[in-house]
Amino acid sequence: GKVLVSGANGYIAVWVVRALLEEGFAVRGAVRSADKAAHLHETFASYGDKFELIVVPDITQEGAFDEAVKGVDAIEHTASPFHFQVDEPDELIRPAIHGTVGILQSALKHGTLVKRVVVTSSSAAVLQVEPEPKTFSELDWNQQAPKEVAELGRAAPAMTKYRASKTLAERAAWDFFEKHKNEIGWDLVVLNPPFVFGPTISHAPTPAALGTSARQFYTMLTEESSPATRHTGSSWVDVRDLGRAHVLALLKAQAGGERIIVSAGPFVWQDWLDAAPHSPHGKYQKGVPGSGKDAVHQIRYDASKSVRVLGMEYRTMAETARDTAADWEARGW
Ligand code: NDP
Repeated sequence: GKVLVSGANGYIAVWVVRALLEEGFAVRGAVRSADKAAHLHETFASYGDKFELIVVPDITQEGAFDEAVKGVDAIEHTASPFHFQVDEPDELIRPAIHGTVGILQSALKHGTLVKRVVVTSSSAAVLQVEPEPKTFSELDWNQQAPKEVAELGRAAPAMTKYRASKTLAERAAWDFFEKHKNEIGWDLVVLNPPFVFGPTISHAPTPAALGTSARQFYTMLTEESSPATRHTGSSWVDVRDLGRAHVLALLKAQAGGERIIVSAGPFVWQDWLDAAPHSPHGKYQKGVPGSGKDAVHQIRYDASKSVRVLGMEYRTMAETARDTAADWEARGW
């Protein structure tokens, strides 16, 4: 079968494309400008005509994906703004919602062969900031971020605007599905990953060009930080495992209709400093080894559904840190 991947040049999406091709799927990648194509064609040259690209210049335009969905058997929608250089909340929220609803609308109208749509949501659509430490599951929805953005508008923190964009886009996807489920030949799977780390195969000539999460990982490992910063954290998943999750989300019939947290576990940054390989050049920060061990994780995720439904297996911090450092070395960083 053939799979449409939106935002195909993104940090996560290139790994999704690779995992799909490795599984034997043909892939049509959607990018927003032709200049994103060269690197992708180079990366996937060995797959010949099993990999093709289509340019969708503006995902917020009505019918933007009408051509892109024709002839594909499934869709992986990853395109959505993930950055924190934002004033008006709508700079993030509009493309997040309209991109998601738009691709579903195109699938409804022109995706006659489509059997399944996978949407890359985020743990940002799950978590809330709460006074006591909590383990979140797929039953939890972030109601805080949309509310805060509605109240504060552009004065809301950038992170809150991003979290609202992911929450509202995922809600819109489920609402669309509920409303149209009797007219469509496909079902919906939503993946909710936390922070995504690991090697990069997207176009990144310098560390500054890395995706938001990979760039933060690079900064934390290579630049000095305060003890307080080193003891903050989140949860994480290796980008290659997340790529595989996007394939499993297509292969597993029982994933249909499910929202699935894809997470390897919690971390504080000191844990990554401990996991990073020793470098003869003293390249990576050491912090205070072991001092992250007693950190309290305010937010944890129950990822058991990903294991049960998708059969996920997760890489360890040691493996991800080692392979990411090797990637940087290979790039001469
Ligand atoms: P990247 O920034 O590397 O990729 C984002 C992709 O979306 C790019 O292809 C980008 O295109 C496209 N895109 C962004 N804004 C627009 C827009 N306004 N119109 C059209 N296309 C747009 O980020 P990631 O790979 O990290 O993120 C991919 C998905 O995963 C996103 O949905 C993100 O929310 C989600 N996610 C990411 C996490 C992470 O830690 N990385 C964690 C949880 C979820 P272009 O290159 O042209 O800008």
